[in-house]
Amino acid sequence: MKRIIMIFLAVSLLLLISGCDKGSDKKPYTSSDVSSSSVEQPAVKAMAKAHSTEVVDGVTYIDGILIVNKTYSLPKSYNYGLTDETLKAFNKMRNAAAKDNISLEIASGFRSYEEQETLYKEYSAENGQKEADTYSARAGYSEHQSGMAIDVNGADFSMVGQKDMKWLEKHCSEYGFIIRFPKGKESITGYSYEPWHIRYVGKKTAKEMKKLGLCLEEYLGVDSEYK
Ligand SMILES: [Zn+2]
Repeated sequence: MKRIIMIFLAVSLLLLISGCDKGSDKKPYTSSDVSSSSVEQPAVKAMAKAHSTEVVDGVTYIDGILIVNKTYSLPKSYNYGLTDETLKAFNKMRNAAAKDNISLEIASGFRSYEEQETLYKEYSAENGQKEADTYSARAGYSEHQSGMAIDVNGADFSMVGQKDMKWLEKHCSEYGFIIRFPKGKESITGYSYEPWHIRYVGKKTAKEMKKLGLCLEEYLGVDSEYK
């Protein structure tokens, strides 16, 4: 009888040990892994997002979005005016703004290579090239040549804090536009803050960018520097 009890005790002790082992093996693995991966995954995913770059007739598209900045230029012959989509979206936005008693007008839309060349030359003669580069694009590097950028209303800093600027900031993504050169992103976009310069990227992208608080360079994973 004593022996049977001893065997029973030994077996249950063994079971207990092996059970504990399994538990202690599993526990740290699952708890640490699940909690860290559920926190880190979205950030890692966003940062490691792979982008596709395509160059068609000298025009660069990243993830299907046309990019023009200090790194990516347009050919001199790219000369098509405002795109239909951009104009349509702007008109829709202008009508919606009018209902809120906000007037939105195009101060400057499409600019050809030659027009940009003249403009940039004037600015750099006036303020020097280094200064001009912070607010004006060199010929071939202006988003206005893409036909997807619009300067709204006064196109100057008198807009800051005004209701038209506030309306644009709040609503332009609903119509597929982004404030292209936001405050605080100057070192990334390569340009000083311009509350009046909007760029058409489509509703889905504009809304996503607004939600993430990213400028176009950050969103597409590119830089903006003259090489
Ligand atoms: Zn502009």
